[in-house]
Amino acid sequence: MSNPPVALITGSTSGIGLAVAHGFAKAGYAVMLNGLGSQAQIDDARSQVGAHGGEVDFHPADLSQADQIEAMVRATEARFGQIDVLVNNAGIQHTARIEDFPIEKWNAVIAINLTAAFHAQRLALPGMQARGRGRIINIASVHGLVASVEKSAYVAAKHGILGLTKVCALENAESGITCNAICPGWVLTPLVQKQIDARAEREGLSNADAERALLVEKQPSLRFTRPEDIAGTAVFLCSPAADNITGTTITLDGGWTAR
Ligand code: NAD
Repeated sequence: MSNPPVALITGSTSGIGLAVAHGFAKAGYAVMLNGLGSQAQIDDARSQVGAHGGEVDFHPADLSQADQIEAMVRATEARFGQIDVLVNNAGIQHTARIEDFPIEKWNAVIAINLTAAFHAQRLALPGMQARGRGRIINIASVHGLVASVEKSAYVAAKHGILGLTKVCALENAESGITCNAICPGWVLTPLVQKQIDARAEREGLSNADAERALLVEKQPSLRFTRPEDIAGTAVFLCSPAADNITGTTITLDGGWTAR
């Protein structure tokens, strides 16, 4: 029996990354998880994803550190033999006006949301090139396409990762490797819950009213995109039907960027 294909998914202890890990495990992939969190959260993610029957491992790389990203890529190759799919998903947010934006927060958002994807790609690409096949998916955001106030670092990182996606696609266009980005609108994850909590506090709203305010402002469908919708899109991008889709973005934003 041949070995299963292998997916390395960054930031997969929570939210969208965890759902993407479920999606690939269900589709028969061996999965390398990564992310921060308590031991209980990590153990829980491992056992949830492992319940689909395939092999699962976890690497604790802090993606703000290039040497730890290298260790994660090498550990994945050593554990499972190769990396067929790399999903650069980990991300953080910080909100403040530019003149008030703490420099260390700027550096952290750019490091985790953009530079980490560059490092993971540069380290995973040679193996993919040697095998003549690979899939790279960068989880960007509607904020790669449009801006919002108080998100300078996030918007800059997400616009940057769309550029990185296109360059990677062009450099590997004839090598059997595709590189694409997924741009979600609002997805109800811990990253967004923090913004709902801040809005509820600032405007004296209930959680439900703060959620609605967030959606009314940006997302015409008035519903959150589900993490499993992102997972389904990522798995699709690795299917034969997507073999000639490269250098593009798929937007799941309930109409956010249509207006
Ligand atoms: P989340 O906070 O639920 O998960 C983020 C993941 O990244 C976690 O596993 C966390 O441990 C990991 N992470 C953070 N810093 C890390 C570090 N230094 N090293 C390793 N891992 C680290 O957030 P989410 O909403 O699931 O976001 C996932 C991705 O989707 C992010 O890139 C985010 O920008 C993007 N996104 C989210 C939304 C949304 O509405 N939630 C919308 C558009 C794009």
